[in-house]
Amino acid sequence: MIAALAALFCLPAAAQPQIDWSKVEIKTTDLGSGVYLLGWQGGDSLILVGDEGVLLVDTSVAAMGDKIKAAAAKISNKPIKVVVNTHAHADHFGANELMAKGGAMIVGHEALRERMAKGQYLAAFNQTIPPSPPAALPTVTYVDAMTLHFGGEIVELIHVPNAHTDNDTLVHFKRAGVIHASGTFGGAGNYPFFDSSSGGSLAGTIASEEKMLSLADAKTWIIADEGDPAHTAALKASHDALVAIRTRVQKLIDEGKTEDEAVAAKPTKDIDASYLRAGGFLTGDVITRMAYQSLKGAAASARR
Ligand SMILES: [Zn+2]
Repeated sequence: MIAALAALFCLPAAAQPQIDWSKVEIKTTDLGSGVYLLGWQGGDSLILVGDEGVLLVDTSVAAMGDKIKAAAAKISNKPIKVVVNTHAHADHFGANELMAKGGAMIVGHEALRERMAKGQYLAAFNQTIPPSPPAALPTVTYVDAMTLHFGGEIVELIHVPNAHTDNDTLVHFKRAGVIHASGTFGGAGNYPFFDSSSGGSLAGTIASEEKMLSLADAKTWIIADEGDPAHTAALKASHDALVAIRTRVQKLIDEGKTEDEAVAAKPTKDIDASYLRAGGFLTGDVITRMAYQSLKGAAASARR
């Protein structure tokens, strides 16, 4: 089950292979200061528990909504009052409507609301995400940054442009020392995925990791969109790997290599050993292809 789930992060619900959702369990991890990770190796959620209720980061897929509610209810008998969506992939907003019907206010970047309302096409998975019903859309949106004061915590929402998507929000729990990376960090030992069909890019993903490094200290928890919570050292390692890949793939582009030639040159070969998880779709070849397309695309739009 875990291997199957590991392969499908950020896939829209409709694209996911046959999963028996009734068998998927949520693992709750106490990160301290009222913040908990609700992990199921998909679009993992965080909750912040306060006297006034629960703040939930990401609502998972629709089929998991009741389990997310139940996991939160084990920690607090207060209602889910606020939902923050980190980005508009379906494993992060699928149970929005359920949470809104329960009285939660939904917050997200303005481009997330737009993409949810219009529907989307994810080229990497050849999948269409249909438009979301009005009840699932954020009622509060922001552009660059926004601060929520909840449960005695300062929750900073920071937009990082063109990173995993064009609508990512980093969620920084300042007092607890926890940052949800949206999809801009793959967790320890995983390459992150940047979804160019949703406006993501390699450069933006590196910039997002640099932003998080500027906010974090050694003890900060960095939450990927699936997997175990990591600390800043793993984020730094991911950042350095991406910078090395950018340099090497850019060199191949500058030498006039085609995409296939760049892949054949295996520019990630010495890095892959630390970043390839069994069953994951982000192999060295895939990350090279993604990097090549992203760097080429950036150069083309700079010329326009
Ligand atoms: Zn995603």
